[in-house]
Parts: sequence; structure tokens; C-alpha cells
Amino acid sequence: MSSSFDPTILHTDLFIDGVWQKASNGATFPVENPATNEVIAHVANGGADDAARAIEAAGRAQAAWGKSTARERADILRRAFELVIANTDRLAAIMTAEMGKPLAEARGEVAYGAEMLRWFSEEAVRIGGDSTTSTDGNTRIMITQEPVGPCVLVTPWNFPLAMGARKIAPAVAAGCTMVFKPAELTPLTSLALVDIFRQAGLPDGVLNVVTTSTAATVVGHWMSSGTARKVSFTGSTEVGKLLLRQAADNVMRSSMELGGNAPFIVLADADIEKAVDGAMKAKMRNMGEACTAANRFFVHRSVVEEFSEKFAKKISELQVGNGAQAGTDVGPLIEQKGLDKVQALVTDALSKGARLLTGGTRPEGPGYFFTPTVLTDVTTDAELMSTEIFGPVAAITAFDSEDEVLHLANDTEWGLVGYVFTESMDKALRFSRELEVGMVGLNTGLVSNPAAPFGGVKQSGLGREGGKVGIEEFLETKYTAIAV
Ligand code: ADP
Repeated sequence: MSSSFDPTILHTDLFIDGVWQKASNGATFPVENPATNEVIAHVANGGADDAARAIEAAGRAQAAWGKSTARERADILRRAFELVIANTDRLAAIMTAEMGKPLAEARGEVAYGAEMLRWFSEEAVRIGGDSTTSTDGNTRIMITQEPVGPCVLVTPWNFPLAMGARKIAPAVAAGCTMVFKPAELTPLTSLALVDIFRQAGLPDGVLNVVTTSTAATVVGHWMSSGTARKVSFTGSTEVGKLLLRQAADNVMRSSMELGGNAPFIVLADADIEKAVDGAMKAKMRNMGEACTAANRFFVHRSVVEEFSEKFAKKISELQVGNGAQAGTDVGPLIEQKGLDKVQALVTDALSKGARLLTGGTRPEGPGYFFTPTVLTDVTTDAELMSTEIFGPVAAITAFDSEDEVLHLANDTEWGLVGYVFTESMDKALRFSRELEVGMVGLNTGLVSNPAAPFGGVKQSGLGREGGKVGIEEFLETKYTAIAV
């Protein structure tokens, strides 16, 4: 199997009711490679008509799909898992071409996404229920779990395969039909994943995908349709809030994975090598374009110099380039807007007193590249302290006391993840308890795991993806009273 990108075997159409098809008005939009600025494909540009056909198909398919057996659904997920693994190189090449991440990271994402499918193939057959008797003994109480119904799935561009898999897998496991709108910047990986579900035997109409450059029209149609019973969204807090407002009109179940502003805390007693290693993962994975990316580094004053020097040295050794080329550690950012934002945040931090340890430049030539950057002495009024950087920029601030750093870490409207490095069990548990986040990395820079509940508190979101609770987002509890 080739690991290079092959434009002749891409899916670029809409998938509605089990049929690949053009947009009803024939329109397409271009997909660009962010490393070269070349257009690599033209993808169907769905509109309101296509959105309507997709949600109608999902609505029609729900009754039969909701009655499918757990084993049927588990087997489809298991086959999809195996197909994703068998297609690792092809999927990784597509992902790198449209999103920019290095091939090794793209393969890692394929493995993570595939594991979501396997995890939920195992969860599908374990949807339980309960039974009890009323306190007066007159009623048997039978509790069952039913699929929520047709779901609207909207995903971002930063993990084009994993974000789709994380939503489609539990929806399939629970017996829900879906209308899916992947990010317009990275539709090709999602379309390839949808075709894998077709090959795995998912019945027509269960998973429908509409790519579009006008997200508000397509998703807005689904949200107001009255047919969709749930929305599962990963993306910006701004769009998440908009969808929550739309969901209110039809009282739709809502799962939201929104922005983050992760603190990365290095306490005085931390193992600095471990902390630097964790920092590399928490900051540099996906070029920093992750909602779990460490956004604010708080390092105890007694170790800040040692940590900063070692971290900056490792960062400066990273190879920046086209992710499709061997040896590349850091690919381009996704688009010009993201690049301009990162540059502006660095300029702002420097103007407020930060010091540049490495990076801070934009390499010549095509592609949206930014040199991996470490800033130290970053002041708390710098904009990047309250803005998701979404780029390869680490901002370090020194602190003196644990109370002070807890206050700083929690002083944000977001609460997705926090990282803490310490060799003390007591301190680790204190920070785990007191950080206002949905996930904590203790002496690790990586928390994503299919077996774990991924999600945030505060404005980072609602609900969890993965783990034992992941499937519950797609199930309703029904209770039947039985007279005895
Ligand atoms: P990002 O800033 O990471 O691109 P967005 O929240 O803008 O995050 O995008 C995440 C997903 O939300 C994408 O699939 C995008 O097309 C979609 N989206 C953007 N605007 C809207 C909208 N008004 N309604 C529904 N979906 C939207």
C-alpha cells in the first residue's frame, strides 16, 4: 500500500441514503494542501436541498436501525476498525495532504480513531438496563436504553479522522442514524472514513455526509428540521454556543467539545526531564493545533531557567517542513488566518515584556509554516494567556506558590485539561482535585485515550466522548411501569 497521496482514489461527493452523489446544483469547493498551497481536490459543495435529503434519509432509516441487534452493530464497527487499520497508510497520506500534520502523527491518529471503533464495537453489546420494584410493591419498574434518534455530527479540521470516529462510533453502537458535516478545510479524510463504513456494511441512510463551504446553511437546516434529536459538535466555543441556542428551539440533546486553555504546571520538585518530555507532547503534537494543547506553561521560579533552556533546546531541534517528507517533525498551520493569529499573539507577548528563547519566525516559501517558538517571562496580561494559541508557541510564566499557580490556572472561562508535573503524591492529588478541568495529565503530556472519558467543564463543553460513559450520550433512558 502506498504511503503517498493519490488524488485518483479520493471520495469527493456527498453520501446520502447509501449513494455517492454530486451536490444538487453541481457546485464544488477546493481543498488545499497547507504545506504547498496547491489545490488537491474539489469536493461537492452541499446546500440546503442536499441537507434536506440527508436529514430525511436519516429520519427514514432510524426506525429499522434502532431495532437492529447489538451484535449487528458491533460487527459493523469491528469490520470498520479492521478496514481503517488495513488502510492506515492511505488514510494517513490523505490526512497529511489536506491537514499538514507529519505522516507519523497522521498514522498515530488513524490508530487512535480505529481504536474508537473497536472500543465502541465492544460497548455496543453491553448496553444494559435495570429492573426494580416500586416501594409499595405494586409496580415492576423496567428500565431500558433506547437510541436518542437521528444525530447531527459536526467536526473540526485538526483531527479529521479521530473526531469523526469519536462521534460516529458511539452513534452506531447506540443505534442512532446520522447526518455528518466534516470541516470544509479537511473533508477528504472524513469522506474516506464514511466509505469505510459503507464497505463495513452500514445500512443505507444510517450515515449521511454533506460537505459544504456554507456550514451555517447545512447545519442550520438540520438543527431546525425537527427530525434530528441530538447534536454532537467539536469546534470553537463560539460556534458551540450558536448550536446550543439552535438546539434549544427543538430541545435537542447536546454534546459539545469546545475550546481549551490548558495550564501546564511544573512544580518545584518535578522531574525536569519528564516535564520537558511531557511539554513536547502537550505543546507540539499536531503543531499545537489541539484543544488539549498546553497553552500556558507555569513553572516554579526555582526550576524555570532549567526547564526553559532544556525545552527551548528540544524545540529548536525540531525539523519544520512538509509533513509528507521523511524526517519532518512539525508541519504547517492549517491556513493563513491561523498563521496570522499566532504571529500576532507572539508580537503582542513580546511587546508586553516576554523574552524569545527560540523561534518566532515565518519561513520563506509556500505553506503556512511558523517556526516552533518558546517565550519566557510571559506576563499575565499577554493576549495568549486568555486566547487559544492553536500553534507551535509555548508561553512560560514563573510562579512562586502553589496557591498562586492554582489561581492562575483556574482564572479562565475554559476547563478542558490541565497538566501537572511533580514527584509528590500529595501535591499531585491536590492539583488533580483543585484544577477546574475535565481531564488532568499527571506527569504526562497526553490524555486522549479511547478508554477514557474525554471532555471539559466550564465553557470547554458538555458531555464526554469515549470511555464507559461515551455511549450514554447517544442513549435515552426509558422506564416502563408494569402493574403486578
Ligand atoms: P475552528 O475555528 O476550529 O475552525 P469552528 O467552530 O469554526 O472551529 O469549526 C468547527 C466546525 O463547525 C466546522 O465543521 C465548521 O464548518 C463548523 N461551523 C462553522 N460555523 C458554523 C455554523 N455557523 N453552524 C454550524 N457549523 C458551523
